[in-house]
Amino acid sequence: MKVEFTVQDPAHAEAADSVLKDVEAFCEEIRPSEELCYLEHRFNDEGIKLGRKYRLLGLLVPRELGGRGADLKTYVRALARIGREGSGLRTLFSGHCSIGQVPVITFGNDEQKARYLPAAARGETIMAFGLTEPDAGSNPLEMTTTYRREGDHFILNGVKYLISNGGIADVVVTFAYPEDRSGGVSAFIVETHGEGFEREDLTAKLGLPTSNTAMFEMRDYKVPVRNLLGKEGDGFRVAMTTLISGRLSVAAGCLGVIEDCLIESINYAKERRQHGKEIGRHQLVQEHLAMIELHRQTSESIIMTAVDAKMTSDQSPADKELKRKADLLAAEAKLFTSNAAWDAADRAVQVYGGRGYSTLYRPARHLADVRVCRIYEGTDEILKLKIAAQLLGKEWEAFK
Ligand SMILES: Cc1cc2nc3c(=O)[nH]c(=O)nc-3n(C[C@H](O)[C@H](O)[C@H](O)COP(=O)(O)OP(=O)(O)OC[C@H]3O[C@@H](n4cnc5c(N)ncnc54)[C@H](O)[C@@H]3O)c2cc1C
Repeated sequence: MKVEFTVQDPAHAEAADSVLKDVEAFCEEIRPSEELCYLEHRFNDEGIKLGRKYRLLGLLVPRELGGRGADLKTYVRALARIGREGSGLRTLFSGHCSIGQVPVITFGNDEQKARYLPAAARGETIMAFGLTEPDAGSNPLEMTTTYRREGDHFILNGVKYLISNGGIADVVVTFAYPEDRSGGVSAFIVETHGEGFEREDLTAKLGLPTSNTAMFEMRDYKVPVRNLLGKEGDGFRVAMTTLISGRLSVAAGCLGVIEDCLIESINYAKERRQHGKEIGRHQLVQEHLAMIELHRQTSESIIMTAVDAKMTSDQSPADKELKRKADLLAAEAKLFTSNAAWDAADRAVQVYGGRGYSTLYRPARHLADVRVCRIYEGTDEILKLKIAAQLLGKEWEAFK
């Protein structure tokens, strides 16, 4: 069964076709190693190797900087397809391409773009986004990481926690307050291989075994002044703008999970026989298929509405109303699709019965992995409050 988006913008059809052909070949080639690594509970480094081979590690990076220059619609379709192979593999791409590269694409100056994006697009370097800290998650403004200036360097001190790709990244976009609290949060492009940068993989996870999650500490860590991203004090805006793209990538991955759950459930319902007939002939099993299909259709629609809003906003970056709309719709898309994917995976497990509970089969892996999509890049609760605040007005924000 083939499940895919309708190409809605013929002007981009050719570029989209070539990217999506490579994504399809990548997904087909990676499936065996992804399954093996999942069962052996280890990071799958084939994601990077095959990502290089199929030139997928700079999907959003402009062509003149060595990337594929895909538009957002194509990118989202690519991540949905990768999401079918698992949320762990898709998280590698969200961490590297969305929240890793997008802040440099959006806020970097020419020199920063030239220094970091071509290598990242080739997959010679891996990127990550380090915002969360042990005591600052839903409210990043409670972060305690600090910086001070000494000559041509900023000196960073602090710990970042639960960072996707954090243990393998060569470059991390990270955030800190001035040590004397004289201003707001600033964003920095940080290379990870110097003295004073220590990290540790976090492997005791409910799911996502094939994805790297890590914490890192910066102890009097020297970052060249030229690596300040945007202006001093602009960091919160950099982070929140980046999360619009990040949330769309998570939503796309969730759509992929739903698609895969649908494919798996249909196939299994047609093969497995109980009570003298295929289980797909039992009406209560059919209900699961209908509900997963409903999740697929509604998720696709809400994502595409959000993508349209983001692309419109990107054409007029100074228009605050368009940005507000893009932000709202990306939050809605992420909240909706992550819950839809959770329910779809749960239903696929149910269709599989006892085998559904085994990680030898895809539904159980999707169920364990997709749970995090209701937590990272904005929890269910924070996104609900964000949506309500947009309806009621900023002064009603419940998470101040
Ligand atoms: C596998 C994984 C990968 C991740 N990758 C990254 C990454 O690449 N980069 C990065 O920066 N971070 C990353 N994160 C961190 C993630 O974004 C945070 O875990 C998330 O934002 C929630 O923060 P927290 O864990 O501190 O939970 P908390 O903020 O402590 O929240 C705990 C609970 O309280 C609720 N809550 C908090 N405040 C409110 C409120 N005002 N009203 C109602 N409910 C509230 C939350 O919704 C949640 O249910 C990752 C996390 C995981 C698990």
